[in-house]
Amino acid sequence: MAREEKKIVCWASPGCKMYCGLIAEVEDGKLVSLKPNRDYPSKNKGCADRLPHHIRWLYSDIQLRRPLKRVGERGENRWETISWDRALDEIAEKLAQLKEKYGPETLAVTEGTYRSDIYPIRTRFLNLFGNPSNIGCAGTICHCNTAALSLALIGTAQGGRHGTAPACCVIHGNDMSQTAPLAWRDLKNQRPRTTKLILIDPRRTSMGGDVDMWLRIRPGTDTALLMGWIRVIIEENLYDKAFVDEWTFGFEELKARAAEYTPERVSEITWIPAEQIVASARMYATNWPAELKDASSTDMLGRNAIRVEQARVCLRAITGNLKIGGGETAEGPGPVAGGNFAVRDSMLQLADMLPAEQRKKQIGSDRFKLMMWPGYEVMAPIYEETYGIPFPMCAHNFLSNQPLIWKAILERDPYPVTANITWGSNPLLNSGDTKLVYKALKSPNLELSVVSELVMTPTAMLADYVLPAASKLEKPMCETHEDFSPNIKCAERAVRPLGERREEYLLWKGLAERLGFGEYFPWKDEEDLADYRLAPVGLTFKEAAAERYVVRSDEPWTYERINPRTGKRTGFATPSGKIELYSHVLEALGYDPLPFFEEPPESPFSRPDLAEQYPYILITGGNFRPMFHSENRQLGVGTREQYPYPVMDIHPETAAKHGIADGDWVYVESPRGVIRQKARVADEIDPRVINVQSHWWFPEQPPREPWLGGLWASNANVLTPADDPDGFDPVTGGWPLRALLCRIRKAERVQAGAKADPAARADT
Ligand code: SF4
Repeated sequence: MAREEKKIVCWASPGCKMYCGLIAEVEDGKLVSLKPNRDYPSKNKGCADRLPHHIRWLYSDIQLRRPLKRVGERGENRWETISWDRALDEIAEKLAQLKEKYGPETLAVTEGTYRSDIYPIRTRFLNLFGNPSNIGCAGTICHCNTAALSLALIGTAQGGRHGTAPACCVIHGNDMSQTAPLAWRDLKNQRPRTTKLILIDPRRTSMGGDVDMWLRIRPGTDTALLMGWIRVIIEENLYDKAFVDEWTFGFEELKARAAEYTPERVSEITWIPAEQIVASARMYATNWPAELKDASSTDMLGRNAIRVEQARVCLRAITGNLKIGGGETAEGPGPVAGGNFAVRDSMLQLADMLPAEQRKKQIGSDRFKLMMWPGYEVMAPIYEETYGIPFPMCAHNFLSNQPLIWKAILERDPYPVTANITWGSNPLLNSGDTKLVYKALKSPNLELSVVSELVMTPTAMLADYVLPAASKLEKPMCETHEDFSPNIKCAERAVRPLGERREEYLLWKGLAERLGFGEYFPWKDEEDLADYRLAPVGLTFKEAAAERYVVRSDEPWTYERINPRTGKRTGFATPSGKIELYSHVLEALGYDPLPFFEEPPESPFSRPDLAEQYPYILITGGNFRPMFHSENRQLGVGTREQYPYPVMDIHPETAAKHGIADGDWVYVESPRGVIRQKARVADEIDPRVINVQSHWWFPEQPPREPWLGGLWASNANVLTPADDPDGFDPVTGGWPLRALLCRIRKAERVQAGAKADPAARADT
């Protein structure tokens, strides 16, 4: 019996993003156990709720094993199995025809957040195809927007200190007990010795009992709170004057803007008592170093989203937390060995291969400029001058706009989008406005629809081709985390892909070869590509994965470092060379350079007429274990058994008003549609607010119309709007999944999947 141990990292399906270092024991090519790798340079070494199911998940018969081609109508669930060669031949031939007829911009790529590590390869493919990066990605509302803003304000997407305990940590709209339980455990263990904890959240969550202060904020008003903090900190001289004077730009302008946000006004807007606003600002500013954690919840606020993060960056800067030794020290990419860089993501993207006139065709780039080519063109020269390497548009922080792509498919405006490749994503669950996505995926205007996936999802059920992808247990890892990290992480694969599953690199390579630019994809697989990436620093992938794990930069760039090319201090890669409290990049793109609060477009105050019919404020989302986004909901793999139903949070007073008891099914309705979830009645939420869980579907229901795996019954995005760009964040195009209006009623008799159930159909 051949027995071996592989050093792997748990980092994507069916895991999460904790990057746990593990040892995989493999017997005769079969994975038999996963155990912590004590040598791995991270405290994260496995969890109790997901990890035990990984092996069962891998070998479960729910996994796709062979390429499928649709033979019936979309959604009929009639397929034939075909070979990879035939699938790639047919897809490439159709792509070539559509390109010829409509131009290379006719292709869209849709994707989720971080279910792969080869985003630069996807971008390389698109640039060579001539496509203007018509990439619709959940990243626009999940961290990639804040990374793009960070590039604008401090010249790097990198920051955040890991290891040392901060003196204060602000957890902002993030239930870390669910999203990052191992980091939450570490934070709690540091108390009460070091860390003050402040929770900003409409819900108390399970963390509420462990924090020093819980600020129960009205959903969507976060920028007002943070501007109030800035005012208090400046007025009371709690800011780091030396750092502000030397290393920030626009302090006086920020001070004048923040002066508008008195504690009394902010209290009125946010529903947080004025004294709590002042006390929490003092706690954050006087406990240094501090961390003000970002969270994707505020990325999902639509019109206000980017201004929340802008206020956060300003707070981190004026309190000296971005300086060396601060709570969130800003670091740029640095060389590894003897001044050499490994091949970073940005070096694989081939941005210069895309003709200039094609850039202008990127969908949404005339309006939402920061994360698209207009933002790239302002920021890239400064970044490249500072660091001497290409600007990271390869990361999925430079994207088109997913809802506008769906609209372009339906309306053929600004031009026909006739082909879509979805990889590692389930937009019928994770994109806003499920009905919009559904119409686009069913539209005859979409002449080619390809999905690369692990299991049959509702999105895959509507595809023309479904291609079986390798999970993270079946593929190696070599990544700079889309260049967010100065380091390169490497890990072996546990086993070869099962059945005919393939790592996604081979999908892009296979298409490129058939479309005539295969010479740009010379690497035979992902290990070969990793060898190429590590060669400049004298390592092979095998050495890096089995011995180094994380190849660290010898000297990450900081603002104090002497730039060898200029002989001067590097400063920050921004137009002023400083952290920009007043942003020249936003100004150059036509936006207000300073942060400000704007009332959410669908609230009791902006839409009192609508609030008469829909009196509650709706928030959606919030990860909960052992699920991860729309993954892990199949019965029989250990995860769904732990968490069988969707749950909505409701205050006891509100529940009593509607005759709802804990555990009752409840219909939640917005102007877009209706879903049902089970009530969790608890006073951890404001009586005026309703929280529903996101990403729910029921794979035990039939994989065909009208059920599509229980797509409609409890899916939060049936309630969210994404067809009106006026409600999007004006800077990034982020669409709103939170701070909306809804109403509720008890669901008297519910039969799962029944057509009579108003929450089980596309037309309700
Ligand atoms: S699923 Fe568990 S083991 Fe895997 S990364 Fe997440 S916490 Fe770590």
